[in-house]
Amino acid sequence: MERTVVLIKPDAVKRGVIGEIITRLEKEGFTLVAAKFMRLPEDLIDQWYYHHREKPFFPDLKAFMTSTPVMAMLWEGKDIISRVRAICGPTDSKKAAKGTIRGDFGIDVQMNAIHASENAGAAKQELDLMFHPHEIYEY
Ligand code: UDP
Ligand code: MG
Repeated sequence: MERTVVLIKPDAVKRGVIGEIITRLEKEGFTLVAAKFMRLPEDLIDQWYYHHREKPFFPDLKAFMTSTPVMAMLWEGKDIISRVRAICGPTDSKKAAKGTIRGDFGIDVQMNAIHASENAGAAKQELDLMFHPHEIYEY
């Protein structure tokens, strides 16, 4: 079964919608297999967003992502990587349709409520960066 890494980002944590976002994923029929509420270390963000390190928004993104803990989760389901990306909506919350997670809970292009792995390669890398094997529940 496919797995994807989801982070509920600081804007959504501050607005108290962790539960609502988790509920949406549960209602899709996805299975939660690992979770932790943690402040991301800077070196983890450097690796997580390595491909964005030269972008002008990177320093701000880093400050945002460490401003509160995030809810880091591993979810499992059929075709889950593309399906979660679809229910997230596009990166810019202002362009995201109502009914998508970013459309309903995001604020702008940076504060967009949620991270979800982009493809299978990213999902594997993010899983390895975020979770130890003993933190993952095997059904
Ligand atoms: N981001 C930003 N400014 C931008 C583009 C992206 O602050 O102009 C942030 C935003 O939080 C986004 C993250 O950087 O979710 C990673 O960007 P990416 O383009 O990979 O978007 P995603 O894959 O999260 O949709
Ligand atoms: Mg991305």
